[in-house]
Amino acid sequence: MSARHAECDVLIVGGGIVGLWCRALLEREGYSTLLVERGELGGGQSIASQGILHAGLKYLMSGEDDDAPRSLAEEHGRWLDRLARRGWPDLSGVEVLAEKLVMWTTPSLASRATGWLASPMMRSRVRRLERDERPVAFREAPRGFGVWEVDEPAIDARSLIERVAAAGRGPMLEGEVVADTLEIDGDGVRVQIESSAERARVRAGAIVLAAGRGNAGLLRAIGQNPEAVCQERPLHMVIARHAGVPVFGHCVRPSMKPRLTITSGADEGGHAWYVGGAIAEPPGTERDPAEQIEFARRELGECLPWLDRDGLEFGTLRVSRAEGLMPGGGRPEGPVLAQHGRIVAVWPTKLAMAPSAGERVLGRIGPIVANPGPGRAHELEGLPAPRLAGPVWTWSPQT
Ligand code: FAD
Repeated sequence: MSARHAECDVLIVGGGIVGLWCRALLEREGYSTLLVERGELGGGQSIASQGILHAGLKYLMSGEDDDAPRSLAEEHGRWLDRLARRGWPDLSGVEVLAEKLVMWTTPSLASRATGWLASPMMRSRVRRLERDERPVAFREAPRGFGVWEVDEPAIDARSLIERVAAAGRGPMLEGEVVADTLEIDGDGVRVQIESSAERARVRAGAIVLAAGRGNAGLLRAIGQNPEAVCQERPLHMVIARHAGVPVFGHCVRPSMKPRLTITSGADEGGHAWYVGGAIAEPPGTERDPAEQIEFARRELGECLPWLDRDGLEFGTLRVSRAEGLMPGGGRPEGPVLAQHGRIVAVWPTKLAMAPSAGERVLGRIGPIVANPGPGRAHELEGLPAPRLAGPVWTWSPQT
């Protein structure tokens, strides 16, 4: 295999939401970039996310009333602007699947939940829906099921990845950084990239590690201890295809994680439900797929008994959240960065926090790359570019 050469200000490893966001933002600020993705764009956590643009309610729901709701609430307004073509980047092509989510309660919790939802903490954030105001999926809910509206949209994460990728122009390469070829000197970083076709040698002023769970291995390869800065939280999501109606919302219990969080996507003329929430977390991660599906059938039967579930075709998807660690080991409220000289690793924590993660990366790159300028990537022309990943229900392994 012969090697091609390229030069850029910033090499970005990983084509999920934060890598693509950093690419677009750095280019806007005049930096030349090259993005390397070893699989498909969005094919890590980003398209596997539920696409909810949280405004902080989730934290209030589980009783974690801290700073996260405030930073998410600020970010929320900026997202709405971008979706309406009022901010940068123009995300007007992103599909908004539900403008508002619902929160619903089951009869066994009705009185406790009503009190909780009417509490000062919650009542400014939710609105009880009369039957004729509800989304179609909740119109036939029997008496005793309460339905509230929450001002948080759900977007199609795949169309978001596509739009953010289109907001940048720099080259993207399907390939993997060969971490043990990394050399750092006074004025830059040299590293080899292996694509399915050829090898490329890249010289960059800085590297942004935006590789999600791949960041741990890359940090280890440069002699850093990933356990000091990042963690993985496994999830076992459930997919139910061929549903008759879309569902977007949380089945809630007072002061606890939602029992189910369901978002939906168009699927072969019907809808696919993508089910997370408490069901996807431990002990759900310990269940094998058949057990998880059995559990999901029971949960759906209790939480949405009025909906037709006969024709549903179930599968499960194991996917891990890759997050930074707070000093002391706590879970982060916002994006986390770790810098080792010219290498900046980033974990956005949430899809919704990718813009603030990008701003913080930009702040770190400024002092490292003093004179941004045009790169030299023409030798990479013709090498394979990463494709956009499909919807999660087309992913394997599923059962
Ligand atoms: P990723 O999307 O994982 O991207 C990393 C990319 O790097 C991948 O494409 C991977 O292939 C590539 N890569 C890895 N190693 C290498 C390497 N060595 N070389 C080249 N490329 C490499 N957030 C919300 O705001 N709302 C939600 O509703 C929501 N729901 C979620 C549901 C689930 C089930 C999960 C798992 C997460 C959810 N999140 C949600 C969180 C959100 O998805 C993540 O915070 C975000 O997508 C992380 O983006 P990322 O770009 O850091 O990582």
